[in-house]
This record gives sequence, structure tokens and C-alpha cells, in this order.
Amino acid sequence: MEDCIFCKIVRGEIPAERVLEDDRFLAIKDLHPKAPVHVLVLPKEHLASLDQVGQWRADQSHALLECIVAVADKLGIRESGYRIVSNVGPDAGQEVDHLHVHVLGGERLGGF
Ligand code: AMP
Ligand code: ZN
Repeated sequence: MEDCIFCKIVRGEIPAERVLEDDRFLAIKDLHPKAPVHVLVLPKEHLASLDQVGQWRADQSHALLECIVAVADKLGIRESGYRIVSNVGPDAGQEVDHLHVHVLGGERLGGF
């Protein structure tokens, strides 16, 4: 995807603070953090949102979840707890149309 901002980050065309990376996923610090720890976990392959996950094999979605846990572990919030959020579409306020999961923690998060 030529103009997708997260695809550009994956390709290294836009800087981002990389937290964790493997061949399939990239975790970056959110530019405008809403909590002391606020990371975005995204697949390197472009997918518009979680709504498109039917295009994946089951092991790919499992790997995404494992990557989220690995990020929480690396950032030291696995024991204290964290929240994951993935906005899908207009009513959720999705701003970037490349599947990503917010990982939030590092403090007691407010009610949902
Ligand atoms: P969403 O509303 O779920 O689409 O959230 C998009 C998130 O991406 C927001 O929390 C933004 O702060 C974040 N964001 C946008 N551009 C960048 C960027 N270049 N690097 C890191 N995070 C970004
Ligand atoms: Zn993309």
C-alpha cells in the first residue's frame, strides 16, 4: 500500500520507535500515548482492519496474539496488567486503515 502510513513505517520510510519486530509483526510506540505504556502492534502485511482477518490463516491471528503478549512481557506490564483495543471503522474512530492493536498499561487504567 503506497500511501499507508503504517506500511511506510514497516518499510522504514517514516521513523518510529520500534519496540519489537519479527518477520510478520512490528510493535511501535504510539506517537500520542494515552498511557505510560502505549504501543501499537501491527502486521507487516497490509490489512485494513480486524474486519479483514478472514483473509488470514488461523495461525497468523494466533501469532498476532502471541506478539501482543511478548510486547507486554518486554515492556514489563505483563504482571501489572494491560488493555488491548483495536478500532474498526468509523464508529470506533479508526484513524489509520492498517490493522493495529493498541496495548495500553503502566498505570491503573480508567473504566471502559
Ligand atoms: P486508531 O484510531 O486506532 O486508528 O489509532 C491510530 C493511532 O496511531 C493513534 O493512537 C495515533 O496516535 C497513532 N499514530 C498515528 N501516526 C503515527 C506514527 N507515525 N507513529 C506512531 N503512532 C502513530
Ligand atoms: Zn498499510
